[in-house]
Amino acid sequence: MFTHDCTVCERTMLVFPAQVTAARQDADGTTVLSIVCWCGAPQEVRHGLDGAATREPALAGSAT
Ligand SMILES: [Zn+2]
Repeated sequence: MFTHDCTVCERTMLVFPAQVTAARQDADGTTVLSIVCWCGAPQEVRHGLDGAATREPALAGSAT
């Protein structure tokens, strides 16, 4: 179980394993999970090797 910031409903949602519809590995070795948000929107979640979700670099500097 982990959290995901949905790009459609703009909420931070808890994601359970049952919501994962697919998993693939990026060229850089990052695991990318395809999930379905509670709002019904398909989303992709990128995870590092430590299992923690990673944010896009463009968003990292804007957070407080
Ligand atoms: Zn959503």
